[in-house]
Amino acid sequence: MNICGFYPESINEGPGLRAVLFISGCRHGCKGCFSKQTWSFEAGEPFHEAKQAELLNDIAANPLLRGITLCGGDPFFSAEELIPFVQTIRQRLPYLDIWSYTGFTFEALIRNKHDSKFQLLQLCDVIIDGKYNEQLRDLTLLYRGSSNQRIINVPLSLETETLQLINHFDL
Ligand code: SF4
Repeated sequence: MNICGFYPESINEGPGLRAVLFISGCRHGCKGCFSKQTWSFEAGEPFHEAKQAELLNDIAANPLLRGITLCGGDPFFSAEELIPFVQTIRQRLPYLDIWSYTGFTFEALIRNKHDSKFQLLQLCDVIIDGKYNEQLRDLTLLYRGSSNQRIINVPLSLETETLQLINHFDL
């Protein structure tokens, strides 16, 4: 697994101040994708254990962070390799909320409960799901590029077995 970027602080990929990690690789091929350079799984640099520890230390040292957001690419294509890192965040930095962008829909991610994509989903507080749709592009949307994409409360949706969208934010 490679990463093609890391922002130690950002206010654009979810509420509050967040660390943002870009996981290389995406096969969705959305027309009009604004980050085609991240489609290759070889883009960027290897996310080996030493690099993971370095980023975790950076994140842990910043008391202003509210959460971490996983971007890409699509992190869910690398779910199996990414899960141990996200589990470590959960254990070591439980006060951070974890958001992830994905081109998969929530319905697709819950289809197979034995798939690593579902396991990664379970580690997330919020996902922004769905492929970018150029025809539905809307610059007024918070955190999303097109209106088909949804901001989903993952734990509540799994618990209630009903999709729970988030429409308001405590910024
Ligand atoms: S899911 Fe995201 S990175 Fe992948 S093609 Fe679509 S817009 Fe681009």
